[in-house]
Amino acid sequence: MLAARMYGINDIRLEEVPTPVPGTGEILVKVAAAAVCGTDVRMIFNGAKGIDEEHPLILGHELAGTIVQIGDGVKGYSVGDRVAVAPNMGCGICDPCVRGNGHLCPEYQALGINLDGGFAEYCVIPEVAVRGGNVCVLDDNVSFDEGAVNEPLSCVCNGFEHGNIHPGDRVLVIGAGPIGIMHCALALMAGAVVYLNDMSADRLQMAKDMYPQIRTLLGDLKELVMKETKNAGMDVIITACPSPEMQALAVELAALGGRVIFFGGIPANKEPVGIDTNLVHYKQLILTGTTRASLAQYRKTLNYISSGVLEVKPLITAHFPLKDIDKAIDTARKGQGLKKIITF
Ligand SMILES: [Zn+2]
Ligand SMILES: [Zn+2]
Repeated sequence: MLAARMYGINDIRLEEVPTPVPGTGEILVKVAAAAVCGTDVRMIFNGAKGIDEEHPLILGHELAGTIVQIGDGVKGYSVGDRVAVAPNMGCGICDPCVRGNGHLCPEYQALGINLDGGFAEYCVIPEVAVRGGNVCVLDDNVSFDEGAVNEPLSCVCNGFEHGNIHPGDRVLVIGAGPIGIMHCALALMAGAVVYLNDMSADRLQMAKDMYPQIRTLLGDLKELVMKETKNAGMDVIITACPSPEMQALAVELAALGGRVIFFGGIPANKEPVGIDTNLVHYKQLILTGTTRASLAQYRKTLNYISSGVLEVKPLITAHFPLKDIDKAIDTARKGQGLKKIITF
């Protein structure tokens, strides 16, 4: 099969590799759509632990496809099932796993992160993932593209659920990338008044074209927020950008009793931000962060898509065949468009 394997920093090679054969308890998926994520871009440009010349890895953790082969002992799935696959898997026996938070397991593994993922014609799903329920059969009205994009949506849902957003809440999302726009979509779904900030007028316009209810803020954010809210601040602030300065500002811009969600991580080469803890104290703020998503959240957001309460198709702005993966990564790195899908 054709696969895009990462060998190190800036080193992705298109290669013919043996098609994996599913062992006992495993499932083989013929990949139909694999979305490119900021995490892929970061791994490729910064390097990733465990990936080197001797240990290449197929990236791609946002994938959907068709089951083409089933290993011995697999129950509940059939050849021909259209599926989306949640990439995160825990050991299944530690406390976080038993609580349903396999994505927080200390032994966490994930397709496309430390196991071969979806930037290949076929992807084998390990037994622990099959038995854990990671393979999710798609409703007929859900496309492979939407199944792939459900992965980042589930991570955004994790953040969203920690924000405790109520109808009428003023929600500010900082960062108009695909993740920021998904945060806006979920907050709109919850009945919030949603503001979106970014340095790029083009990105803000793109977001507004997609979800016209979004109110865009371009310019001096502090000034704009204080004007919009008559100095009250925002009830919920979500940082969906890799900026320490914006994290610090978020705490300043939060209203009394506000919630701040640090969604985007800070790159290793930047100093983590200092927080004015007196603001947290006197404004009685709740500060939280989220990473990845639980399987329950992955299934929940698939239902949002299939039931039509949330529309993700507009987020998909380009398709690239696997052989053009370099171009897909490059446009993602330059921040052009939103989600890019690798096709086969
Ligand atoms: Zn991702
Ligand atoms: Zn575990």
